[in-house]
Amino acid sequence: MPQHKILLDESQLPQAWYNINADLPVPPQPVLHPGTKEPVTPDFLSVLFPMSLILQEVSTDRWIEIPEPVRDIYRLWRPTPMYRALRLEKALDTPAHIYYKYEGVSPVGSHKPNTAVAQAFYNKEAGTRALTTETGAGQWGSALAMACNMFGLDLEVYMVKVSYHQKPYRRIIMENFGAQVFASPTDRTNYGRSVLAENPDSPGSLGIAISEAVEVAATSNGGKKYSLGSVLGHVLMHQTVIGIESLQQMELAGEYPDIVIACAGGGSNFAGFSYPFLHQNFTAGKKTRVIAVEPASCPTLTKGRYTFDYGDTAAMAPIVKMHTLGHTFVPPGIHAGGLRYHGMAPSVSALVDHGDVEARAVQQLATFEAAVQFSKAEGILPAPESAHAVRVAIDEALRAKESGEKKVIAFNLSGHGHFDMSAYEQFHQGKLQDHEYPTALVEEAMAHLPQVTMS
Ligand SMILES: *Cc1c(COP(=O)(O)O)cnc(C)c1O
Repeated sequence: MPQHKILLDESQLPQAWYNINADLPVPPQPVLHPGTKEPVTPDFLSVLFPMSLILQEVSTDRWIEIPEPVRDIYRLWRPTPMYRALRLEKALDTPAHIYYKYEGVSPVGSHKPNTAVAQAFYNKEAGTRALTTETGAGQWGSALAMACNMFGLDLEVYMVKVSYHQKPYRRIIMENFGAQVFASPTDRTNYGRSVLAENPDSPGSLGIAISEAVEVAATSNGGKKYSLGSVLGHVLMHQTVIGIESLQQMELAGEYPDIVIACAGGGSNFAGFSYPFLHQNFTAGKKTRVIAVEPASCPTLTKGRYTFDYGDTAAMAPIVKMHTLGHTFVPPGIHAGGLRYHGMAPSVSALVDHGDVEARAVQQLATFEAAVQFSKAEGILPAPESAHAVRVAIDEALRAKESGEKKVIAFNLSGHGHFDMSAYEQFHQGKLQDHEYPTALVEEAMAHLPQVTMS
């Protein structure tokens, strides 16, 4: 009988992160200064990040050892379980075997503590007193609040205003861990005040909140550093514990995935799950198809342009080459499924551009339908973000049924949805609708791209 759960014990916790910089089929593009548009110096980045993380960002070492204090905290919930979705397979009547790695068992319910703990550790080691960050619905903020508390760092969180008011529970989790949470745009920063002057009722956005958190760190004379929950290379690398464990678990199950799937907002859970499998594609002759899934209403990889753009709305963050909807992008109000960032991690963008990774956009209703179907079969209520991966896993399993192929499909269930019940309520009440972000708006936003001479 195949088992539902494929478990590792603590002794099998990974000892090192996998750094895809060592194996990227295309050379990484430079990171540019938002003002001069010339490649940034470590000095510029060191205002925001400790040197250890800057060095990880540019390292080409394939394996980077995980410090023991970080592994010690990982052991609170890692290794995470992998499941064979036997009941979903049966419900779909598919010959495909479906596996999912479950990151919702972390203390805050998502993959995000994998990097939050590492970033808090390196900042503490470097003598940082406090961190600043942004958060949308609060998944990243609550992960970093937990980690900062464990390492004795203060934390200021700039939380998108509409979420601050509509989604109080993760804010309370952050406050419980001792973090200060502000509804962004705030009057604490020059940028926040300028946004409020133009529009006192601004609901805020992730891009605005990033700009505020960056400004506070950059003007703190060194006491405060900034922390980002996705997109940057070191963040993606910290997440590779997910895929490294998954490789061991697939081996225990005696199978190897034909298809690997994860949702992509900034790219961190996608990279964390899929890069160790891509390593096998690059170096061990495996031919796994790797699919990044995004919402049709925030279609960064499938409709965005692959070009240099700012990381934030205020054009204060570094410029990187990535798929982008334009840094002026505002997600449609009707969109309930997360994954709202205008850009994408540069390495994920490069791999999509080079053809190593497929990108797929899915509609909102089909995504929630898949989440409900999955929960009825497997009992776990996915985060709306993770539901995008569930949708494509089900689609691929149905395709295998049509063709009669016994495909092995593995996807990352990046978190549970227990704090996102209002999105599920809207779905069940028929208040959600499909929405496709118009290509014309992407074209318009391209007028605001930074004028970069290289590329
Ligand atoms: C934040 C989050 C995401 C999206 O971020 P990535 O960096 O693209 O992984 C996906 N799933 C969950 C559960 C999240 O909390």
